[in-house]
Amino acid sequence: QSKDLGRNRWIFYSPEMSEQLVQRREMERALSLAVIRDELRLFYQPRYSLHSGRMDGAEALLRWQPSPPALVMPDNFIPLAEETGLIIPISDWVLQRACHDALGWPKPFYVSVNISPVEFCRGDLAERVATILRLTGLPAERLELEITENVTLEKPDKVLLIMQQLKALGVRLTVDDFGSGYASLGYLKTFPFDGLKMDRSYLKDFPHSQQAHSIVNGIIGLGKAFSLVITAEGIENAEQFAELQAIACDEGQGYYLGRPMPAADFARLLESAASQQGNETGQPG
Ligand code: C2E
Ligand code: MG
Ligand code: MG
Ligand code: MG
Repeated sequence: QSKDLGRNRWIFYSPEMSEQLVQRREMERALSLAVIRDELRLFYQPRYSLHSGRMDGAEALLRWQPSPPALVMPDNFIPLAEETGLIIPISDWVLQRACHDALGWPKPFYVSVNISPVEFCRGDLAERVATILRLTGLPAERLELEITENVTLEKPDKVLLIMQQLKALGVRLTVDDFGSGYASLGYLKTFPFDGLKMDRSYLKDFPHSQQAHSIVNGIIGLGKAFSLVITAEGIENAEQFAELQAIACDEGQGYYLGRPMPAADFARLLESAASQQGNETGQPG
């Protein structure tokens, strides 16, 4: 679409459109300087084991702060980064920072990082991850990569090969936003995923609606049939948390358990959780 726009620009020329293009070019330029200007920030959102009721890791979520206090959310700049190829240096920064931060967390805690499908188009994702693990010293089993299911739609042979290389490193691979893309279920058998994160839209009417309950139960059963660790995304209240525990969902994440927070806040949360250990109930709140 944007390619057509470029080729036929003179046909559709209008002042508004040229203004849009200028803005896009400006944003692209600013984003290309974001790493070097140290404007990227990682927020961490706690991830809980629903079996133990305890925090066991966090998802790294990227923000861009071109000038304080403005904080640009990923949905507003990741697509541009993907279209322009800037996603590669940005993602190198994310992986490096996330692995470095996770090294300071208590031992079994893991970090999960979102990987863009664009990164699979280039053949060197596994090499990039291997280099960053070596540079930071984070054990591979403490790194999880979240990948949306659409990655399996194009060039499946190439994607499968890269996933196998990543698995050989020892990192875990998880389907992100499961059930929101266009892939058919067959990919769960073909690709070496370890886990599945159910898209948060499935929790919208859960647990009160009988239909939502059946669907969530079905997804958990499906995931278990493929031997996947199931994470529920978007847990927003105590009823959802309790019911997901009752139906044996493995992991959970959501505003009820903890919002994405700056790295320093997350480190403090870990400290207070560690100092409470032994006499606490393990319940969130
Ligand atoms: P995602 O990977 O599915 O991340 C979960 C999103 O849901 C996050 O939005 C998080 O803040 C939000 N969320 C978490 N719990 C709840 C809840 O209980 N209720 C609701 N309504 N929302 C909740 P965020 O941080 O805006 O990120 C949006 C998307 O941007 C992410 O979706 C991911 O696809 C992408 N993204 C974020 N960081 C990166 C990154 O470093 N690299 C790449 N390639 N993509 C990233
Ligand atoms: Mg994710
Ligand atoms: Mg998700
Ligand atoms: Mg997403």
